[in-house]
Amino acid sequence: MKFLKQIKALLEGVFIVFKHLFKKSVTLQYPEERPVVPEKFRGGHTLNGCIGCGICRKVCPCDAITIENEGKNVTSYKINLRKCMFCGNCQYYCPVSAIKLGKKFELATAFEEELQVELVNDSNKSKEDNK
Ligand code: SF4
Ligand code: SF4
Repeated sequence: MKFLKQIKALLEGVFIVFKHLFKKSVTLQYPEERPVVPEKFRGGHTLNGCIGCGICRKVCPCDAITIENEGKNVTSYKINLRKCMFCGNCQYYCPVSAIKLGKKFELATAFEEELQVELVNDSNKSKEDNK
């Protein structure tokens, strides 16, 4: 009886292997193959049309945002990705939808200074992206 159970388990295993032989592979050959990023993914920030009101900085739970501005003229907008937890508060509370969490996900780096990202206000790219 025990022997029959073992044979049954073995056949089930073989059946599962054969079933998956003819299915499309779920493994992605990253980085050659690029993943489809979900619509609501919260990745690297973009800035466009910021008026320097500072609300994003106030609602950020991690104190990750630094803004320098003269009135509505924003001279510097930095996000510290070492602190940021990608909660989306800055995007949610921005009154003019200037700050957005984009689909950029390759943010890992070996250099801490690269985690201090300066965003350019008049485009949708960070200064690092402008390379
Ligand atoms: S996503 Fe959250 S933690 Fe990151 S900068 Fe915005 S408010 Fe701060
Ligand atoms: S990103 Fe939005 S909330 Fe933050 S300072 Fe600019 S306008 Fe204000």
